[in-house]
Amino acid sequence: MGTLLENLAVIKQRIERAAERAGRDPASIELMAVTKTLDVSAFREAALAGIVLFGENRVQEARAKYPQIREGYRLHLIGHLQRNKAKLVPELFDCVESIDKLDTAVALDRYARSPIDVLLEFNTSGEESKSGFSSVTDLEAAIRGFRALPNVRLRGLMTIAPFTDEKDLIRSSFRRLKTLFESTRQLVDSRDYDTVSMGMSSDYEIAIEEGATRIRVGTALFGGRH
Ligand SMILES: *Cc1c(COP(=O)(O)O)cnc(C)c1O
Repeated sequence: MGTLLENLAVIKQRIERAAERAGRDPASIELMAVTKTLDVSAFREAALAGIVLFGENRVQEARAKYPQIREGYRLHLIGHLQRNKAKLVPELFDCVESIDKLDTAVALDRYARSPIDVLLEFNTSGEESKSGFSSVTDLEAAIRGFRALPNVRLRGLMTIAPFTDEKDLIRSSFRRLKTLFESTRQLVDSRDYDTVSMGMSSDYEIAIEEGATRIRVGTALFGGRH
């Protein structure tokens, strides 16, 4: 592993190449730096390097690490949100990418003072250890339910690929999410529905080839976690 700046340069170049292979504009792919389990210095260093989007998977950890007032960057929750923590979320995060029940969005809607962005997480791998919706019917029902929630803005879908070295399985998981994103578009206000969040350190290039608009990268950027 190199320094953060070296790693970032490599990642940017790979994003560009993957976008080129897919005939996409690299600027249409947003890079999130995942700082979970890392010290606050990782966030500071990445912010200095120009990164403007960060991800954390736990409410309490983010609360301890990130300043109360976010200036010049955005923070997203990418881990499972328990309903009883929903109250803390609107002041801490700009988006929750891991909504897996309409109930959680209902709770967010109640506590948000201004509309907060959310993504619905879909379990494309079928792995039981992963959260997210696992049925398309349930996903569509939840999407329809959003119409009654003025303070949450549904922006798109998120997934985590299966834990495997088999690239074909990873690719088909991403392809499934992109297909679902397209097919559910008709159920929402399509102006706001613009985000496909998929791809991590080991598979973000495949995700870009399959249509990711946001990739979430931790170890490839910062090195191993402690
Ligand atoms: C940890 C995590 C990431 C980043 O994982 P890396 O393999 O370190 O890039 C991305 N998305 C989610 C939901 C995560 O929990």
